[in-house]
Amino acid sequence: MLIYSNRLHVRPAALIAGVSLLCSVGTAHAAGVTDQDIINDAQTTADVVGWGIGPRGQRYSPLKTLNTENVAKLVPAWTFSFGGEKQRGQEAQPLVHDGKIFVTASYSRIFAIDAKTGEELWQYDHRLPDGILPCCDVVNRGAALYDNLVIFGTLDAQLVALDRDSGKVVWKEKLDDYKAGYSFTSAPLIVKGKVITGVSGGEFGIVGRVDARDAKTGELIWTRPTVEGHMGYLNGKESGITGELNATWPGDLWKTGGAATWAGGNYDPDTNLIFWGTGNPAPWNAHTRPGDNLYSTSTLAIDPDTGKIVWHYQFTPNDGWDYDGVNETIAFDMDGKKLAAHADRNGFFYILDRSNGKLVNAFPFVKQIDWAKGIDLETGRPIEASARAGDPSKSEDGKKGEVVFVAPSFLGGKNWMPMAYSPDTNLFYVPANEWGMDLWNEPITYKKGAAYLGAGFTIKPLFEDYIGALRAVDPKSGQIVWEYKNDAPLWGGVLATAGGLVFTGTPEGYLKAFDAKTGKELWKFQTGSGVVGCPVTWEMDGEQFVAVPSGWGGAVPLWGGDVAKKVKYLNQGGSLWVFKLPKA
Ligand code: CA
Ligand code: CA
Repeated sequence: MLIYSNRLHVRPAALIAGVSLLCSVGTAHAAGVTDQDIINDAQTTADVVGWGIGPRGQRYSPLKTLNTENVAKLVPAWTFSFGGEKQRGQEAQPLVHDGKIFVTASYSRIFAIDAKTGEELWQYDHRLPDGILPCCDVVNRGAALYDNLVIFGTLDAQLVALDRDSGKVVWKEKLDDYKAGYSFTSAPLIVKGKVITGVSGGEFGIVGRVDARDAKTGELIWTRPTVEGHMGYLNGKESGITGELNATWPGDLWKTGGAATWAGGNYDPDTNLIFWGTGNPAPWNAHTRPGDNLYSTSTLAIDPDTGKIVWHYQFTPNDGWDYDGVNETIAFDMDGKKLAAHADRNGFFYILDRSNGKLVNAFPFVKQIDWAKGIDLETGRPIEASARAGDPSKSEDGKKGEVVFVAPSFLGGKNWMPMAYSPDTNLFYVPANEWGMDLWNEPITYKKGAAYLGAGFTIKPLFEDYIGALRAVDPKSGQIVWEYKNDAPLWGGVLATAGGLVFTGTPEGYLKAFDAKTGKELWKFQTGSGVVGCPVTWEMDGEQFVAVPSGWGGAVPLWGGDVAKKVKYLNQGGSLWVFKLPKA
């Protein structure tokens, strides 16, 4: 800065203009986050600039300062309270850039924190109206960084871009009508200057879609509905309907067809495709909607430039169990092939060719799957077993269909919480759960802003000694190489590192580190409330840091039936914990 101000006195006016530009960049301390920073995020160890720790979402860090030899010495560097009277689930993945941490919290809050000291730089509390309709707790899973903006979505279905230095609103866009059941909880994805988002609300008969906006202005570029029959738009013009009207949906049900895109997406630069998951078709009662009900319970591969669906793979055709296929599809390479992996709520682990969506392999990653005997590798379709709840219109009183017990429960063999992949061990680390449900169907008609299920249920544990299981899955053999069993259901994300470590949290309050090869527990720390957030790691001043939000909540206490009763003793909270090794 001194050099530039010296020049100011001696240089001609033409150059002074250039100099002042440099100075204004200088006062912001660092350049804003660029597309290149986002593409390279997995390799750059000083920051974490997007959801998934790299656009492919592998959640793997090449850092090894912290490793299997020294992780036992890991201690807190500082902790930060989200404050407030209301706490609930803290499911965020923090972002780290330029010495600052950006972390979202329950009730649509976001904090900027000094990464060295834990001091608050600013806090933004979104003003939420009465009458929001979040199905599954008031969570938020994270923000996106682009240029000098921090962008995050809110429970009243808005997208807000804040100045990263001041926390002031730069732009704000309404995604949709919260009174119709739309909300927003996932982390936005940035691809080539666009901020890409989905919507929540599949339990209210909304229509799922993926939108792309100019990240700097919020202006809509394209929108792609995820239910067949609905029109897409590109640059303000119609860009064709999704699928073919009434090909897989009867009558008018596609108009309230669900397929919510509520868990965010990943981007694969190799194929220039976004992988975005879709939730259950609405309503839950599948007898009302014979057909595959595209594009529900699928991974969609979308062209980020136009919003065109390039390929799709549907996990649960005519879903009758609320097996949302929303969670992550991760690009990885095996045997020289470009593949993608997805561990579905329905209990199967899928390996797809990521260039065309063709099924390569599918195998169970949980102990009990009642709804299907397997996946036909030729057709890519499930081999269904007899586990559909009865049709209420065929029951004696017309009010309640035959009850079935089916595993996994609708909370899934795995839910939203993202797994990690280590290119060192070539294993996926999957936060799985073992539970089933009594399930029955009821008559239902759509009413705006009302739950649109047509089903009843009670979730039950399958085993006495555990529900949660962190499993190391070999994508080549389909074998579970090791597992860690946890009493309560696992509900947090996973992080793998080149130091041979795998981190994940437990509802009992621990952040734990495991040996990536053997599953041996090497370290744990009690954070004071359940850990259902996503851990990240970065390097600062030659030291490696690990951060994770703490705060029990999410869907389990609200929807978990007998499991919710079992874990009723767990206390809520709201804080960010940051760890490092003591200085030598
Ligand atoms: Ca990075
Ligand atoms: Ca659902």
